[in-house]
Amino acid sequence: MYIGSHVSIRNGYDQAAKTAHSIGANAFQYFPKNPRSISIKDFDKGSAAGCAKFCKEKRLVSVAHTPYPTKLISENADVEKKVVVSLLNDLEIAEACGSIGVVVHFGTMKKGDLLEGYKKMISVLNSVLHKWNGNAQILIENNAGAQTNMGITLEEMVQVRKLTHFPEKVGFCFDTCHAYASGLWSGDNWSEVAEKGLELGYFQHLKAIHLNNSKYPFGKRKDRHANLKDGYINKGQWDNFLHSPEIKNIPLILETPDDQAYSHKDEIQMVKQWLNV
Ligand SMILES: [Zn+2]
Repeated sequence: MYIGSHVSIRNGYDQAAKTAHSIGANAFQYFPKNPRSISIKDFDKGSAAGCAKFCKEKRLVSVAHTPYPTKLISENADVEKKVVVSLLNDLEIAEACGSIGVVVHFGTMKKGDLLEGYKKMISVLNSVLHKWNGNAQILIENNAGAQTNMGITLEEMVQVRKLTHFPEKVGFCFDTCHAYASGLWSGDNWSEVAEKGLELGYFQHLKAIHLNNSKYPFGKRKDRHANLKDGYINKGQWDNFLHSPEIKNIPLILETPDDQAYSHKDEIQMVKQWLNV
């Protein structure tokens, strides 16, 4: 079982891996560069190699998460070009760090034709993947559905992946808070979600899970993460989800509040207890 949290790269990629290990994690996520910018980062190759080596020795798995402004659907061609270059940079960093892939949110559109949005998104993914030959994959994450109807169903994930020219370079990341907020997973319908996912071939490409509770009730379309013991998803619902065979061995990564009163270290320990590992 892989469980961990998002960690800072403030002191380098190698240090991020060591931090994860020190808090009892065997999985972690990091921002490959400044999370508020899609400028290219000339990254420290030594630190990245150190991260890869440490993870191999200690059997840690990691994923990178793209900076917030990385939108798969952009307002104009200039921004779109920047996003493509930035995503390639993120993939290079992830590869150097020995990570599984780079998580990116499904595209969103506030207005206009959704079909146009899917086409744009597929075209951006093609531009990136056609230039990418590493092992790190692009991992598409489901949306919470705040101000958008895009990227909230498993069908969309599976279809977009299939319609790219390089489906083998694309996987998925399932965010539990987003699934709850968007109306996909009510906490009580996991068997239906799982059945749908199996039917669509979603789970065989699921590479990471963002394990977050929700500060808002089911279906409110609000992307506000809560600690597992605090939000609207209850312990019974977590037990049902965490013990389901479809997600066995998929890395579980917390993106929950991490403060002095309740740290990721405590939360990882709690999940291990829930899982009896
Ligand atoms: Zn997430």
